[in-house]
Amino acid sequence: MTQQVNPQEGAAVKAADRAHVFHSWSAQDVIDPLAVAGAEGSYFWDFEGNRYLDFTSGLVFTNIGYQHPKVVAAIQEQAAQLVTFAPAFAVAPRSEAARLVAERTPGDLDKIFFTNGGAEAVENAVRLARVHTGRPKVLSAYRSYHGSTSAAIHLTGDPRRWANDTGAAGVVHFWGPFLYRSPFYAESEEQECERALKHLDDTIRYEGPATIAAIILETIPGGSGIMPPPPGYLAGVRELCDKYGIVFILDEVMAGFGRTGTWFAADLYDARPDLMTFAKGVNSGYVPLGGVAISAEIAETFAQRPFPGGLTYSGHPLACAAAVATINVMAEEKIVENAAHLGEQVLGPGLRALAEDHPSVGDVRGTGVFWCVELVRDRETREPLVPYNATGKANAPMAAFGAAAKKHGLWPFLNMNRTHVVPPCTLTESEAQEGLAALDKALTVADEFVAG
Ligand code: PMP
Repeated sequence: MTQQVNPQEGAAVKAADRAHVFHSWSAQDVIDPLAVAGAEGSYFWDFEGNRYLDFTSGLVFTNIGYQHPKVVAAIQEQAAQLVTFAPAFAVAPRSEAARLVAERTPGDLDKIFFTNGGAEAVENAVRLARVHTGRPKVLSAYRSYHGSTSAAIHLTGDPRRWANDTGAAGVVHFWGPFLYRSPFYAESEEQECERALKHLDDTIRYEGPATIAAIILETIPGGSGIMPPPPGYLAGVRELCDKYGIVFILDEVMAGFGRTGTWFAADLYDARPDLMTFAKGVNSGYVPLGGVAISAEIAETFAQRPFPGGLTYSGHPLACAAAVATINVMAEEKIVENAAHLGEQVLGPGLRALAEDHPSVGDVRGTGVFWCVELVRDRETREPLVPYNATGKANAPMAAFGAAAKKHGLWPFLNMNRTHVVPPCTLTESEAQEGLAALDKALTVADEFVAG
């Protein structure tokens, strides 16, 4: 692991960034991006010699860690051989990536439409469903994130939608299940499941089933707080979709490709979508790639009739070569199994033990390397540690928690009053312990903000 110490170079990188890079989701004069010198495996480092254990996997995408040598080599080989080619041709890395993805997706999702990322996958899943059914509306959950392009941001249920909502995308939101902050005042998983399905059925009936093309759900909603659904919920949604002729879309952009300790979160629930979106983990974000896996029935709609959509870089050879290498590496090195083991034996028990010791922890939930620690001012009332705040204003308790984690060598994922524990699937047990120890220290700082 080469760790450069060159503060001057870091300062130059930072200065050019501050002068010219316009950053996502940020007030440009408020953010203070770290200048990164390098990364390898589960770590990255700055130009000052500080090294961080990455409990964010970037934006939850480096499932195989940074700079995996086999994947880097595959990208280099593909670049030397055929760096790019238009999508209407059959080229080896695209064919092979489609085959490997189709082999792993559930049921008969055997045709793959490639995109450059998650939002485009969602856009195209919606388009497939609308043309297939001839219906306009799509239903999605409030606590959700589906991307920041037009349809994807309208479908997004969380506050990131507000500034972008033109109200014109034929989207209706409903409440999905989430027992810890139940929209249905439920007291058990069974009750939450039953009431959430009743609410969805009511929503469908009042919107008019014949106007609804699709229901889209994240299998385990991620960006809004990693909320595994109660057993039976996704099977119930499948039944409603069958009953009303609605296309069932599962968004696995964040949860897919090993994160949950299975290839897809859908495998945990034996969920059977008609369309499934993916991105991020498919090649660990080494080159931008996403896609939609399509059922036989929906693919048949477009057997003789053209699919009205396409992207210049659909199935880019470099991105697909990275996907082939990533999927092969994940299988060879038993990376999905490692994620499952970490969840069951190390992160799950470790985070629950931290919840025992720290009054600021309100809830711990997740699976594999996909965990949420929800911080509260008061465990009884579940009042969030940070009052709900969509304005982006600095929030002292979470900032203090984050700073403490970084001081102890851990880069945490912070979102509202939550830290998401989303390290690479390749994390070792000792790295997991190192991260838990840093979280322990950071939570001691969060405890100071607990009421009373
Ligand atoms: N769907 C889900 C579930 C996501 O988590 C994300 C990204 N966080 C997206 C879609 C959008 O993906 P992208 O940012 O690659 O467009």
